[in-house]
Amino acid sequence: MPLEFLKRRGSDADKTTSTTQPATIGLPEEVVAQEFQLKLQYAGKSSEGVRMRVGPRAMAELPEMLSGIGKGEVEVVEPLPLEFAHAMPQIVRPSEAMQWLNAHHDLSPVTRHALVVLETIDAIDLAFDTFACTLLDGETDTSGYPEYNAIVGGVAAHWDEATGDMIVRGVVGWGGRGVRGDTDRVGQKLLGGILTNILASQYSLGFTAVDRPVPAAGRGGLVCAHCGFASGHERAFYCPKCGMRLLRG
Ligand SMILES: [Zn+2]
Repeated sequence: MPLEFLKRRGSDADKTTSTTQPATIGLPEEVVAQEFQLKLQYAGKSSEGVRMRVGPRAMAELPEMLSGIGKGEVEVVEPLPLEFAHAMPQIVRPSEAMQWLNAHHDLSPVTRHALVVLETIDAIDLAFDTFACTLLDGETDTSGYPEYNAIVGGVAAHWDEATGDMIVRGVVGWGGRGVRGDTDRVGQKLLGGILTNILASQYSLGFTAVDRPVPAAGRGGLVCAHCGFASGHERAFYCPKCGMRLLRG
């Protein structure tokens, strides 16, 4: 059925439509395709872990480990409580994306970019990591978002389930619509600087293996009696937020 009401009487468009009807209707031997492609590249590096004695200022020390290295403000992102356990920076999964935005919309563009890169490549996990983040190298665009060759990152810390020590590692990342040859080398150098600062902390006990806490299967973990943080890790002995011992029921 022709949609006569959509046509404008006597218009040029009307004439064009009538003169460009195909003479024959049939599939050509080869489809002429217009190509579209976007190559996104995210990359990052994580250092060895450094074991820290837990002092009252241990958590507050994290941003100070980036002094002299970062190019801007240092922002600290705390572990996410259980209600955000499924937060993911993936827009095609609306429920996960909403959780992620609700958890992170207040952060700076630099930190949000860093979380997208580092969570996507699985270099940090906010179920247990506390992350002190800054712009480490390169520039931001006029909206404050890092360019593809800018390097972001800082230090990530979590509580060792067995001993209750804090384990801190350096984490750097970069990426977007492009890649530059020397970014990897610059990232490696920055990671070395961060690790030097971590080791120089008065609480440092030296290198240790980084054992990631194991997430609870489905039903959630323990609630901290000290700060109310609901951990997603039923095996966690220590609260990922305040570091106090979790009490088991
Ligand atoms: Zn707590």
